[in-house]
Amino acid sequence: MTTYSKILVAVDLTPEAKEVAARARDLGKRYNAALYLIHVVEPNVTAGAYELIPEFPVDSEEILVQRAGGYLKALADDMQLADARQSIEIGSVKREILRFAREEGCDLIVIGTHGRHGVATLLGSTANAVLHGTHCDVLCVRVGG
Ligand code: AMP
Repeated sequence: MTTYSKILVAVDLTPEAKEVAARARDLGKRYNAALYLIHVVEPNVTAGAYELIPEFPVDSEEILVQRAGGYLKALADDMQLADARQSIEIGSVKREILRFAREEGCDLIVIGTHGRHGVATLLGSTANAVLHGTHCDVLCVRVGG
């Protein structure tokens, strides 16, 4: 019988993250699996990166990570996932999700079909990239109705 013991739940900062978290919580209960919540902060490369683009004030990585941590904790509390391990990573979203899943030995990744980078009817670019690069099963949660 198929079973999962370590489930990685990838959440962005959209309201749909709750739908992804809810599905993962149900699966976690069903398989008695450990849950890992991950959010990836993408580093800001525009500030001063090109001379032609005027510099504008941006939040430092530290502030972004802190803010994301607060968001993740609030989401976990709200979704009764306080026992889940919470991780904020910095880098490319798809790469960090895949790296984390591999390093932690996760056997299932739960991800939304689309979010900020996707169009409602298509598979978002993150889900698509994760599906193509993964070593384990992936569950894409159809979000947003
Ligand atoms: P997108 O590629 O933006 O359409 O997002 C599709 C799904 O990828 C979302 O529903 C999340 O599950 C996941 N995702 C997108 N951005 C992030 C992020 N920064 N950190 C973690 N997961 C993310």
